[in-house]
Amino acid sequence: MSGSDGLQVLIAGGGVAGPALSLFLAEIGIQATVYEAHPYTAGVGGGLNIAPNGMQVLAALGLAGSLTRAATMTEVSYFFDGRGRPLGTIPYGVVDVYGQPAVSMSRALLYGSLAEQMRARGVRIEYEKRLMGVEETPDGVMVRFADGTGASGDCLVGADGARSAVRRHLLPGGPDAEYIGMVGIGGFTPLDALSGITAKDIDALTYTFGTNFFGYGGADAGTMMWWSNLWREREFTTEELASLDEAAVKRELLEQYGGFHEPIPQLIVHSARTVRHNVYDIRTLPTWHSDRIVLMGDAAHAVSPNSGQGASMALEDAMYLGKLMRDHPGDPARSAGSSGSAGPGSRRSSPRAAAAAVRRRRSRHCGPPFAAG
Ligand SMILES: Cc1cc2nc3c(=O)[nH]c(=O)nc-3n(C[C@H](O)[C@H](O)[C@H](O)COP(=O)(O)OP(=O)(O)OC[C@H]3O[C@@H](n4cnc5c(N)ncnc54)[C@H](O)[C@@H]3O)c2cc1C
Repeated sequence: MSGSDGLQVLIAGGGVAGPALSLFLAEIGIQATVYEAHPYTAGVGGGLNIAPNGMQVLAALGLAGSLTRAATMTEVSYFFDGRGRPLGTIPYGVVDVYGQPAVSMSRALLYGSLAEQMRARGVRIEYEKRLMGVEETPDGVMVRFADGTGASGDCLVGADGARSAVRRHLLPGGPDAEYIGMVGIGGFTPLDALSGITAKDIDALTYTFGTNFFGYGGADAGTMMWWSNLWREREFTTEELASLDEAAVKRELLEQYGGFHEPIPQLIVHSARTVRHNVYDIRTLPTWHSDRIVLMGDAAHAVSPNSGQGASMALEDAMYLGKLMRDHPGDPARSAGSSGSAGPGSRRSSPRAAAAAVRRRRSRHCGPPFAAG
C-alpha cells in the first residue's frame, strides 16, 4: 500500500493518537482526514508527562527537540508523606538509559505542536465534527457527524478517546468507560507566584501521599503543573464540570491538602486555573477491530490518568500503525507475526491485521520504525 493507492483514511479524534497517526501516514503519502468533536482551542487541558517511549515517537515526528526546550525534562520522581518526610526516590526518564528524557508539559503545548506540524504537512483536520454513526460495508466506511454532515473512506481509525463512539459502534454491548468515583483536578501555577521553590521541585515529578494524593512538577517554561483527586459518588456532567466554581474547588483542595508540605498549599492558592475531569476505567476489550475499523489510544486501551503512560502509549500506537502501513502493505498480521521481515504483498493492509499485529508487538521490544528527527 502506498499513497498512490489513493487510500482514504478517516480518523475520529484529534487528541494525541489521531494527529500523530495522520503525520506518520503523511510521511508515507497516505491521505488521512482527522475529525475532531471540539473546536480548536489553544490552551485546552491540564498537564502531562510524556515518558521516554512517547518522546521517542515525538522524536520520530521531529517534535521532541522543540517540546523539550519549551517544557521541563524530569529525571527523577520523589515520594513524600504529607509532612514532607521522604518515602523514596526513583530515577525516571534518564536520557542515558532510554535515549530520550521524560518531559512534563501542558496538553496545550503538545496539541499545538502536533497541530502546527499537521498544518505544515498539509494534513486535514476538521473541527466540530462529532462522529455519531458508522456504517461499514465490504468496500468502505461511512461516518455521520452531529452537524448532519458525513464522510466516507476506505477505513476508519477510532482515536476518539476513553469514551469512544467508534468503540460503541464496534462493540455495541461491549465494555464501555465506567466512572470510578473520582474527579481528577489539576492546574498550573506561575513560578513567579511561588516562594522558596527549588530546582529539585521543578526538575522532577513529586508525589505526596497522605489521606489522599497530590503531585507536582515543572511544566511549560515558567509554570508548575499539579494534579490531585477528589472523591465524588456521582460523575459530573460536562456542564457541571465546566461551571465548577474555582474558589470552591480551591477551598476543598486546601481543606485536604492545606496541611501538606510546601509548595503544595502555595500551588493551590496561586493556581492560575484548574482543570477537572471525571476519571473512568474500562475493562479489556475482546477486540480492537473489524475489517475496516481499528481502535487506538485510549479508545482501545485507556489506562488510569495517574499511570502517566496513556499519551505515550497512544503515540506508540500511532507510530506502529504507521509502520505497519508503510512496511506491510500485504497482510501485516501474517508478516509481523512470523519473522517480521516479509516484503510487501499485493493485498491492502486491513485494520484487522494491523490491530492484531499491534497486540503481538506490545509484548516485544520495539525499536523506532521511523527515523528519529
Ligand atoms: C488529567 C489527566 C492527566 C493525564 N496525565 C497523563 C500523563 O501525565 N502522561 C500520559 O502519558 N498520559 C496522561 N493522561 C492520559 C492521556 O491524556 C491519554 O491517555 C491520551 O490523551 C490518549 O490519547 P488519545 O488520542 O487516545 O485520546 P484523547 O487525547 O482523549 O483524544 C481523543 C479526542 O477525540 C475527540 N472525540 C471524542 N469523541 C469524539 C467523537 N465522537 N467524534 C470526534 N472526536 C471525538 C476528543 O475531543 C479528543 O480530542 C492523562 C489523562 C488525564 C485525564
